[in-house]
Amino acid sequence: MGKTVIISNRLPLQLQNNNETLSATPSVGGLATGVKSVHTKDKDLWIGWNGLSEEDTQNIDQKEIDDLLTAHGCANVALNQDDVEGFYFGFSNRTIWPLFHYFLEYAEFELSFWEAYKRVNQKFADAIIANCAEEDTIWVHDYQLMLVPQMVREQWPDATIGFFLHIPFPSYEIFRVMPWRKEVIQGLLGADLLGFHTYDYERHFLSSVRRLLGLEVSFNDIYLDNRVIKVDSFPMGIDYDKFEQAAIAHNSLMPQNRSDLQQRLDKHKISTPDAKFLLSIDRLDYSKGIAKRLKSFEYFLQKYPEYQQKVRLIILAVPSRSNVPQYQLLKKEIDELVGRINGELATVNWTPIWYFYRSLPFENLIDLYTSCDIAWLTPIRDGMNLVAKEYIATRTDQSGVLILSEMAGSANEMMESLLINPNNFEQIADTIHDAISMPMAEQQARNKTLQERLRRYNVGKWATDFMESLQAQKNNNVSFS
Ligand code: UDP
Repeated sequence: MGKTVIISNRLPLQLQNNNETLSATPSVGGLATGVKSVHTKDKDLWIGWNGLSEEDTQNIDQKEIDDLLTAHGCANVALNQDDVEGFYFGFSNRTIWPLFHYFLEYAEFELSFWEAYKRVNQKFADAIIANCAEEDTIWVHDYQLMLVPQMVREQWPDATIGFFLHIPFPSYEIFRVMPWRKEVIQGLLGADLLGFHTYDYERHFLSSVRRLLGLEVSFNDIYLDNRVIKVDSFPMGIDYDKFEQAAIAHNSLMPQNRSDLQQRLDKHKISTPDAKFLLSIDRLDYSKGIAKRLKSFEYFLQKYPEYQQKVRLIILAVPSRSNVPQYQLLKKEIDELVGRINGELATVNWTPIWYFYRSLPFENLIDLYTSCDIAWLTPIRDGMNLVAKEYIATRTDQSGVLILSEMAGSANEMMESLLINPNNFEQIADTIHDAISMPMAEQQARNKTLQERLRRYNVGKWATDFMESLQAQKNNNVSFS
């Protein structure tokens, strides 16, 4: 039995080169935080890019980089600046990301991006061949690496390969727009098992396979000449215990031992005990609907003026892909919206929106989750949305209300939250009003059910289910051939 190898664009730790001194910080984002909890550095291997281009590390001894990564159970795929531009900022984030999130108008179909995508996917496949053996179990992650399964299969026909997509798979009518649609599907079909967060994404994928390649599909099996590929949904969970335990520890701290952020939040709670905190946490990304959320918050305060002076919105926007023009424009739009709304509505004692543009350490995320009465997450499209799950896991007294967009993958498993359409301002304003007035017994009843489900389907279960299904599929294929 070989080892388990995880392959993703980014490694779970990102390197920085500060004047020839190398440092590492943990990666932010759903994939990194989720898969990290199932990666054992002594047993498994994680292959990916360390976040610095070859040009960025010219003045650093390569061995120093390799040793640092090896100590964390990682191996690097070296990318140069052209690779990063064309493959990562180009095809991944200016073609696939907008297209798969239904932002057709943002999707760019540049041949040079596609060429870079193919070239870099081949580098990842080569790194797998160099660092692994054919009997290892290879688990490839996400939209940046959709050609890797087939590239590895060509070298190793008997390899065990799983692929999981962490973003939505769009409907065929959207997917077909891409010039290289067949190549992408063929790349994915190198896997034995293809996993998606929801049944809808799985259905969309199967429909594209049928219509673009004319392959035989029966239920969730795709038949090739010599093997069968299984397609299934595995909604990704969180490390439930980690969030719950952190919240318990946080709640038992003496006031003077609490973080600065928590002490400030406490001060506001004491000075205005009937005030409510609404919380939004996302990467600064157009798919997250942050600008619409700000506008709908303004609409809510106009429709229900009795909540002015009483409700505060805390928005944490984590910097993301700031080299891509759409993200720069969005940042400007959000800055302006926050400025305008605060400028128009703030009083000496009340600022309606507290806006943080940064990433916060885990301890402060727990401060925010445990202190806010309502989590309000309104993506326009979101593969899953783990923040929604994390918020619920930290509510140890089962108080708190989650308002969640029905366009988030997690909405399928979180029916007890208040689901909204992020484009419906009327519904959003009324739902915030309902959330503020929700009796404690109802909050607890909803959260109890949510917590039981999230505890059961945690990230460990997600990974084990995927791995068991991959192994079963492999065994079926061995007997098939
Ligand atoms: N997160 C973080 N630091 C921050 C803000 C968020 O580590 O300052 C984490 C958060 O806990 C969550 C992840 O980033 O696990 C975001 O995952 P999600 O699925 O909500 O969105 P994604 O960024 O993957 O689209």
